[in-house]
Amino acid sequence: MNIFVLNCGSSTLKFRIIETDLDLIEQHADRTLAMGVIERIGSQALISYQVEGKAALKEATPLRDHKAALNYVLKLLTNPDYEVPGIKGLEDIHAIGHRVVHGGERFKSSIRVDDEVIRGIEDCIELAPLHNPANIKGIYAAREVFGSTTPQVAVFDTAFHSTLPETAYLYGIPYQMYRRYKIRKYGFHGTSHRYISYRYRDLTGKAREDTNIITLHLGNGSSACAIKQGDSIDTSMGFTPLEGLMMGTRCGDIDPTVIEFLSHKEGATIDEIFAMLNKRSGVLGISGLTNDMRDLIDEVDEFNDRRAQLALDMFCIRAKKYIGAYMAAINGADAVCFSAGIGENSPKIRSKICEGMDHIGIEIDEEKNNIAVQGSEMMISTHNSKVKVFVIPTNEELILARDTVRVVLNAPRRN
Ligand code: ADP
Repeated sequence: MNIFVLNCGSSTLKFRIIETDLDLIEQHADRTLAMGVIERIGSQALISYQVEGKAALKEATPLRDHKAALNYVLKLLTNPDYEVPGIKGLEDIHAIGHRVVHGGERFKSSIRVDDEVIRGIEDCIELAPLHNPANIKGIYAAREVFGSTTPQVAVFDTAFHSTLPETAYLYGIPYQMYRRYKIRKYGFHGTSHRYISYRYRDLTGKAREDTNIITLHLGNGSSACAIKQGDSIDTSMGFTPLEGLMMGTRCGDIDPTVIEFLSHKEGATIDEIFAMLNKRSGVLGISGLTNDMRDLIDEVDEFNDRRAQLALDMFCIRAKKYIGAYMAAINGADAVCFSAGIGENSPKIRSKICEGMDHIGIEIDEEKNNIAVQGSEMMISTHNSKVKVFVIPTNEELILARDTVRVVLNAPRRN
């Protein structure tokens, strides 16, 4: 089957075409046939597109909305210069898998999209006002462009964390606030944590119920997850993706009193303060220079910038503290797994996060650590390290495609 995997943001559309089916999943032989990103939908859009084995295409064209963007993708698919093997037209796309950010308490696994499911995703809009509306736009656009007979499946970022126990997902506020408004920790990046956990099992030959690990998804947005017996039992992001680790532009954990204090001191509205906490804080806020970890490391290495160093140190110490907390929550993990842009590519950050943790059995082998960049999947701990350390590049799109196949074929979920 050819699955069209779609990840829609408010002005972006990322897609992949993945060839997969139950046999290909079993053999790990699923294949990405083409992929692309469209940015700045709504004005002069920027398109990058790549078909397996061919030169990449980059161009700009005005695209009004997500539907126009999808139609544009279809035109590319049928352009003989960028021919995708096995795809001659719409009819060769067999199903569509959508990344949906928030499934609330209702959606605990991937599901086939119908009007009732769309209403459910709409009900979660107040929990994810920036993301769910864009995901819904993607679903409607795909329906119009691919036709209502092409099955669509929603895969939720929150679903993997639906196994969190009450003790982890409730906040220490009056219980009625949970009952009335469903205020609780939901967690995000679930598809990524799930994929990393699945790859860990595959690499080590462990059974699901023997999988006790800590996964660190460190990208622009970052989160940690404690996985016990294969299930997520705690995660650092919360009611929204603002909680937890310090990130590129988000503050992470903070005393809520700061918000009230700031509103008095700065005469700022709640919205203005949240814009600051979401967009001008974290690594960017501390360094005053950048939210991009690569640039931050360059500032430290080339100019010895004090605040860049401070931001880097804070980023690492916070991740380290979550490892410590989750070690306690799991009663000792077998492995720590690094993933996403920073986790996959930065030996320096991995080394700094794991520094001085030999007392809890974490020891990195610096030689292996330095080799593990750009897509490599490997163990980077020393022979003696009680807790193994892995680098596992994430692949959320693959999970999206595989879940889509399983939902469409009514096959049981395997990972
Ligand atoms: P997103 O959350 O947007 O998916 P990514 O997972 O792509 O983000 O991660 C982006 C982050 O990864 C950026 O801060 C980028 O600087 C960082 N990054 C990418 N390559 C490296 C590298 N070699 N060293 C350090 N950081 C890197």
